[in-house]
Amino acid sequence: MKKRVLITGAAGFLGSHLCDKFIDEDFHVIAMDNLITGDLKNLEHLFKLEDFEFYHHDVTKFVHVPGKVDYILHFASPASPIDYLKIPIQTLKVGSLGTHNLLGLAKEKKARILIASTSEVYGDPLVHPQSEEYYGNVNTIGPRGVYDEAKRFQESLTMAYHRFHGLETRIARIFNTYGPRMRLNDGRVIPAFIGQALRGEDLTVFGDGLQTRSFCYVDDQVEGLYRLLLSDYAFPVNIGNPEEITILDFAKEIIKLTNTSQKIVFKPLPQDDPLQREPNISKAKEVLAWEPKVSRAEGMRITFEYFKNLSPEELFKSEH
Ligand code: NAD
Ligand code: UDP
Repeated sequence: MKKRVLITGAAGFLGSHLCDKFIDEDFHVIAMDNLITGDLKNLEHLFKLEDFEFYHHDVTKFVHVPGKVDYILHFASPASPIDYLKIPIQTLKVGSLGTHNLLGLAKEKKARILIASTSEVYGDPLVHPQSEEYYGNVNTIGPRGVYDEAKRFQESLTMAYHRFHGLETRIARIFNTYGPRMRLNDGRVIPAFIGQALRGEDLTVFGDGLQTRSFCYVDDQVEGLYRLLLSDYAFPVNIGNPEEITILDFAKEIIKLTNTSQKIVFKPLPQDDPLQREPNISKAKEVLAWEPKVSRAEGMRITFEYFKNLSPEELFKSEH
């Protein structure tokens, strides 16, 4: 009998890559999504498989899945600043009520659950690079607070189920991850810059562009998450690529990669935008024997190929 894994947020970017990984590893995959930011086309290649099923469901409502469930990966949540600013209350609900429903399901099914937390729990960090011991610097009432605090509550609730009910839990603190199937208009910097370059628009750098991020290619991320799920480590683990770059230098890299002659224009920095971010991944190295393998140059080349092949309708479609 195959192991059965429930993946929430399955029609999104990371969720759909996780579905692929678990199918490849010979699991039966139960995918769940309400399609609020996801798209079924990310899963269309899986629908014909016997070992794949899909539930169109909002996980903030009671979650029922018939039969055995061995593992749960809770990835449902708006994930880009534009998305969670547009749907702030749903963001808070999916991190709190949604997580509660899935922990309850895990308890009922005696399943192990991994939750998708984020580097945003560190807020605008005063410690650099960020290790799991750092408690963070979050503005609870700022516009990003809806996401950051939902994720912090999610971690607390998960640890409470672990300590009080003895549930097998895993917490991944995911740092900026990119790759094919990101939504072109989700506002995150990589689809934003590549979309602008392909449409012949100027690249919009927010602030002075000296804020930093560290970008992890999706295949590396998925491998780290898979190892964490199968490990016996219940405390949070940072999963990301420590190669840090300023957003301004990154914009210049994209101009080179896309071989365009676009200019860089500066726009105001959004409130509470973290000024620096780089994961300390010592824990992941030690506990999971994991570290990223794909360089930014290689990951960005694959990602650009994906966006380049989108239809002109998709490229020029505007959601916002
Ligand atoms: P995404 O927007 O592509 O995917 C999120 C998916 O969740 C979408 O398919 C959406 O429809 C679904 N969803 C949202 N609310 C739901 C609900 N109430 N019920 C059911 N489905 C719901 O985003 P992503 O980048 O794939 O992120 C996935 C997860 O990973 C999120 O929890 C996010 O917080 C976390 N994460 C991602 C990154 C990253 O860099 N991609 C970084 C840190 C954390
Ligand atoms: N950013 C930018 N121009 C854009 C979109 C984003 O300069 O068109 C900046 C943003 O201000 C942030 C960084 O790029 O400093 C990463 O933004 P993203 O939304 O991808 O991720 P997050 O802020 O959640 O790490």
